[in-house]
Amino acid sequence: MASGVEALEFQGEWQQGAVLRGQVEPGTKVSFLGRQVRVAEDGVFVIGLGRDAAKQVTVITEVKGQEPQEHQFSVKQREYRIQRVEGVPAKTVNPPADQLARIRKESALARKARKVDSTRQDFREQFEWPLTGPITGVYGSQRYYNGEPRRPHFGVDVARPTGTVVVAPASGKVLLAYDDMFFSGGTLIVDHGHGLSSSFIHLSKILVEEGQEVKLGDPIAEVGATGRVTGPHLDWRMNWFNQRVDPQLLVGPMPKLAE
Ligand SMILES: [Zn+2]
Repeated sequence: MASGVEALEFQGEWQQGAVLRGQVEPGTKVSFLGRQVRVAEDGVFVIGLGRDAAKQVTVITEVKGQEPQEHQFSVKQREYRIQRVEGVPAKTVNPPADQLARIRKESALARKARKVDSTRQDFREQFEWPLTGPITGVYGSQRYYNGEPRRPHFGVDVARPTGTVVVAPASGKVLLAYDDMFFSGGTLIVDHGHGLSSSFIHLSKILVEEGQEVKLGDPIAEVGATGRVTGPHLDWRMNWFNQRVDPQLLVGPMPKLAE
């Protein structure tokens, strides 16, 4: 590197929904999407690209005593499927007015959990599937419920019977354990550090408590059919703060069904 140009390296592909692990010289400040990004002591950090991330994004680095530097990256734009889901309970497509306050409260709890910017560094682990089974829904799909367009689907759905154990896809700390949310049913959010979190929804049972630390592979919950669903499955979502990222990009192909 020429003097005055600081090292900036990324692991991962620049595409919508990606989680990228970055590396800078220790002590370098990093900003992305208007946020100062937490950088570990050894210069490692993580960022996430949302479903509709722009074609060009900018990472700003700043070494003490030098001018900030802008680094441009091209983001591969993905094409998302359209998925029609028929037969979900009508009240979960058009919630009754008397449920709106509840829905608002629940989504505020989830939003608050996903804002946590902890010093944990579990995001450096290799992630594993939290269960094995047929994938019945993927990240990004435009969803129609009972024929009505709704927000895109942000998780990966794995269909297994109610009661199937879900394990932690990486280590982390439980940020939220909530038995029955209106849309997402039994909802568990786990912090993997630096703003990266996993959410597990439609659970029938949560086996961990808020504040508890979990290790990769620990049982954390059981599959259910709670909230806006047609049948039992796990919906695993991931966020980098408010950017919804694609969990499937962090794990390898689905292993053969373990019986
Ligand atoms: Zn789902």
